[in-house]
Amino acid sequence: MEIWQKSLKQSLTGAAELAERFGIDPAPLQGVIERYPMRITPHYLGLIEKVGDPIWRQCVPDPAELDENEMADDPLNEENLAPSPAIVHRYPDRVLLLASGSCAVYCRFCTRKRKVGCAAMNLSFGEVMAGIDYIAATPQIKDVILSGGDPLLLPDILLKEILERLRRIPHVEILRIGSRVPVTLPERITEGLCALLRRFSPFYLNTHFNHPRELTPEAAEACGRLADAGVVLGNQTVLLRGVNDDPATMEALLRGLLRLRVRPYYLHHMDLARGTGHFRTRIETGIALLEALRGSLSGMAIPHYVIDTPGGRGKIPIVPAYLEELGDSALLRTPGGERIAFPNAL
Ligand SMILES: *Cc1c(COP(=O)(O)O)cnc(C)c1O
Ligand code: SF4
Repeated sequence: MEIWQKSLKQSLTGAAELAERFGIDPAPLQGVIERYPMRITPHYLGLIEKVGDPIWRQCVPDPAELDENEMADDPLNEENLAPSPAIVHRYPDRVLLLASGSCAVYCRFCTRKRKVGCAAMNLSFGEVMAGIDYIAATPQIKDVILSGGDPLLLPDILLKEILERLRRIPHVEILRIGSRVPVTLPERITEGLCALLRRFSPFYLNTHFNHPRELTPEAAEACGRLADAGVVLGNQTVLLRGVNDDPATMEALLRGLLRLRVRPYYLHHMDLARGTGHFRTRIETGIALLEALRGSLSGMAIPHYVIDTPGGRGKIPIVPAYLEELGDSALLRTPGGERIAFPNAL
């Protein structure tokens, strides 16, 4: 067994252990864990400084998850975009291949919380292979995103098999992985894994840091190893109430990511997934964050703020209104708030 697999085994999964460690009442957590599993790796647990802090909120169950509300189990209609059980095919040229049903830490705000960590999500190897057959038979697919769950919880030998099969498909140009293990289980990013990924260039990995306290020396080493192996690193953050919805926290996160050689890619507005409503922010909050960052932070550090439109209609960028009028002249608002006329071409 590899070190990272031992770490996974040592993770916290029960309310009693958690309650004992932090001196809280386990009873309110019990029912939540029965519905939505908990797992907290030793590394991530070590980042909690106190009950209710931004790390705690991301990984410890909250009774608010059981609030009944109008939100959907599958807000992005992924199940109807599945021509094969392991595929989500929404855009013509790219697909998600759901390669794993589990994650190192179960994020409480997860869009796929209806599924992750549940038996229903554990796709068989045969289903993943059927997904690869679908990709092979669909020439317009140029970009395959391994998703899940967290694909990097697969053992190297399975990952290698999947990636080799995908690389043999002539029309697949780009391979990507979405993984939170650089944040939650950095010991997973072994030399062996990096040697494996190095062979599949152009290979992109989008990771998922949400808070500057997640930028630990271990996470930095993991990202450094991946970057040294030629993996192009991006980051997808979720805008979370009480975690990262203020400009100082967001700025520290984005600056820290660039230091780790990770380009901020998306800032996701919360989806309307059942059990996650307590993390929702207003859209004005996201716009105000972008306005606070623009001008004081390099464009390299500023992600696209996106809303994934319900029903699987695609992601759209939300942009503060810098272009106020457009005709023979454009009326522009500067980052400092001045209004400037800019002549348009005839
Ligand atoms: C987000 C997403 C993608 C990838 O979109 P990019 O904008 O290229 O990163 C692909 N398929 C689905 C279903 C998605 O939700
Ligand atoms: S790592 Fe990703 S898929 Fe897994 S629980 Fe967190 S947000 Fe969901």
